[in-house]
Amino acid sequence: MPYFGVHESIANGFDAAVYKTSDLGFDCVQIFSGNSNRWANKPIAPEDAFKFKEALDETRQFDPLIHDSYLINLASPDEELLEKSVARFAEELERASVLGVPRVVTHPGAGKEDPKEVAIARVARALDRIFESLPEVSTRVLLETTAGQGSYLGGTFEELGAIIAACDHKDRLGVCFDTCHAFVAGYDFRTRETYDATFEALDAAIGLDRLEAFHLNDTAKKLGSHSDRHEHIGRGEIGLDAFAMLINDARFADKPMYLETPKKETEEGESWDSVNLRTLKSLLNQ
Ligand SMILES: [Zn+2]
Ligand SMILES: [Zn+2]
Repeated sequence: MPYFGVHESIANGFDAAVYKTSDLGFDCVQIFSGNSNRWANKPIAPEDAFKFKEALDETRQFDPLIHDSYLINLASPDEELLEKSVARFAEELERASVLGVPRVVTHPGAGKEDPKEVAIARVARALDRIFESLPEVSTRVLLETTAGQGSYLGGTFEELGAIIAACDHKDRLGVCFDTCHAFVAGYDFRTRETYDATFEALDAAIGLDRLEAFHLNDTAKKLGSHSDRHEHIGRGEIGLDAFAMLINDARFADKPMYLETPKKETEEGESWDSVNLRTLKSLLNQ
C-alpha cells in the first residue's frame, strides 16, 4: 500500500504542518522551505527544526518532502536569474538537510528561446554545481513531470531522462510523477492499456527505479492541453479508474503520494484534503 501525503502551509510553523496533516489522517507532508515567492529567506532556527523533527516523531509521519520555490529556473538563459536560481536551489537543499527532509522536488525549468538540448544541458550543469558546492548535504533531488507548456522542460519523460543522463551526480536524482501534469502533457493512463503504455514509456526513458514520489491531482484540463489546473480526485478529466490503478500498482506500493489539490472547504465545511484522502482510500483494494 502506498502512503498518502498532502501539501501544507508552513505559515504557522514547520511543526504545525505536520500536526495538521497528521490530524487529517495523512502519513506524510509536502512543504515549502520558506516563502516560495521571495528570493530571500531567513535561516531556519535550530529550535524550529527541532520542533519539526519532534512533530514527525510524535505523529509517526515520515518522508516529508520539500517543494522548491517557483522562482527557481535552473534552465534560464538569463545569467543573473540562473545564478540566483542556483544559489536558491542550493539553499533549498541545505534547508532540507537542516530539517531532516530527504528529498526536494523541483520543476526542471524553462530555457525560453534556447533549444531543448541546450536547456537540458544547463539544468544538468546547474545541478552538478549545486551538489558539488554542498559536500556535506545528501538531500536527493526529484525532477517533476510538468505540463510541458512552452519551453518548460519535463513535459516528456525523455526530457527528464536526458537531464539525468547529462548529470554527473545521477545517484542523487529521482523523479516525481505528477498525475495532472503528465496527463495535460499528453500521457493518457485512464484505461488499463494506456496506463501500462504510459509507465512502459516512463520505464524506457527514465527507469521505474527512479520514480520516488507521486503528486496525486486530478485536472480540469484536457489530455494534451499543456494547461496546469489541479482538481479534486475523481472530479476532473482523469477520473477515479486511473487513480485506482495507480494506488493499487504493486510497483509503487512503498512510494509516498502527495495531494496538491485545491484547499478550501466543501459546502458542508469539511476539509477537501480529508475528502480527497477518503476518496483515495476507498479505491484501495482490500
Ligand atoms: Zn506537482
Ligand atoms: Zn501543477
